[in-house]
Amino acid sequence: MYDWIIAGAGFTGATVAERIATQLGQRVLLVDRRSHIGGNAYDHYDAAGVLIHAYGPHIFHTNSDRVWTYLQQFSDWTPYFHRVRAIIDGREAPIPFNLDTIEAVFPAGLAAKYIDALLAQYRFGERVPILKLMERSEPLLRDLGAYVYEKVFRNYTQKQWGFGPEELSPAVTARVPILVSRDDRYFQDRYQAMPTRGYTALIANMLRHEKISLMLQTSFEDARQAFPKARVLYTGPIDEYFGCKFGRLPYRSLDLRWRTLDKEQAQSTPVINYPEEFAFTRITEMKQLTGQVSPKTSLVAEHPCAYEPGRNEPYYPIPRDETRALYALYEEEARKTAGVIFAGRLGSYQYLNMDQAVGAALAVFEKKIRNDGEGD
Ligand code: FAD
Ligand code: UDP
Repeated sequence: MYDWIIAGAGFTGATVAERIATQLGQRVLLVDRRSHIGGNAYDHYDAAGVLIHAYGPHIFHTNSDRVWTYLQQFSDWTPYFHRVRAIIDGREAPIPFNLDTIEAVFPAGLAAKYIDALLAQYRFGERVPILKLMERSEPLLRDLGAYVYEKVFRNYTQKQWGFGPEELSPAVTARVPILVSRDDRYFQDRYQAMPTRGYTALIANMLRHEKISLMLQTSFEDARQAFPKARVLYTGPIDEYFGCKFGRLPYRSLDLRWRTLDKEQAQSTPVINYPEEFAFTRITEMKQLTGQVSPKTSLVAEHPCAYEPGRNEPYYPIPRDETRALYALYEEEARKTAGVIFAGRLGSYQYLNMDQAVGAALAVFEKKIRNDGEGD
């Protein structure tokens, strides 16, 4: 009856479903155990009529022509350059930490010295991960590195992950490098935009095809029992698929606390980070991401916490040597499992952004599906 079962209606599952239906003409049963499509990118209007990202702020950015071109088919896009400020020593200053941030937090004379020291060692526009800056031997750069580490990264990272920056893959803190420029955009990617009618509408368009059947509030396990012969693309947690037989892979979760205010705008920028104080990491004002006009505004504070199966959601794989080693055991098991492909942020246990999830899904389709004959 179905050629494929796809577990998970997020960006990964939707991309592969769309490709299988439109490129191969095969039948897909797409299931998600949640009551909606979109995975963690799901958005909807809240009680105050404000469009919110239900699982935390999602900002689209990519350098991939392929992903950008692919996604153009399913939505109009509104240009959007994300901006973030952090409260550092009680003052709001731009993040990523850049030359303007230096001038905002230090007295003029010292700021000029730090800026000269950076420009002596780096090209204007260079992106320097904090852990790299801290390896420098020049006294001024060492001092600056120690300051930024202490004020911006140490406590924020501890709150977010339950680990310090050195206990995680360096790629984690390298996502937000120090910028040797006055570019105050959070991302420098070539393409930066938001889907004009939101992510849920975008993904609904991807799934609008007669060969794709959607069943929500349905687990993979139930679908599997009903259609045991179909090939499978699984985008849920890989450890769960194998009954956690090597032990549970850890994930970080978030307790999202929402509030709506009876005013048009509450913050100076869409996101304010709180690296030094409070249990939450950042507060996002949704309307500033979506551009919606409304007399009310909804904000969300992110309180990081451990993932507890059944109680909250597995939001973030935790990039560490230990978790990579445990994941490798599951990956090996996955390789031996005929007829099932694992993909996505949870299926491949990778800290993927949306564009990377779509890029990886397109690659999975080309390499493992299109070139691998017919479904059962
Ligand atoms: P998911 O979106 O996680 O979808 C997986 C789906 O599988 C879920 O809907 C789940 O219910 C379902 N599922 C799991 N197990 C089963 C099962 N057994 N049976 C049935 N269904 C199952 N990316 C960006 O590019 N920019 C951002 O600003 C950004 N911000 C983020 C903020 C937060 C707080 C988080 C958590 C992520 C953020 N991301 C961002 C990443 C983005 O959410 C992911 O890249 C994207 O959602 C990955 O899509 P996916 O389909 O692989 O996984
Ligand atoms: N980070 C930090 N302070 C900040 C911003 C980011 O320490 O003000 C670190 C932190 O470890 C965070 C990582 O950089 O988890 C990546 O930040 P990003 O904004 O990309 O996180 P995400 O949006 O994925 O939660």
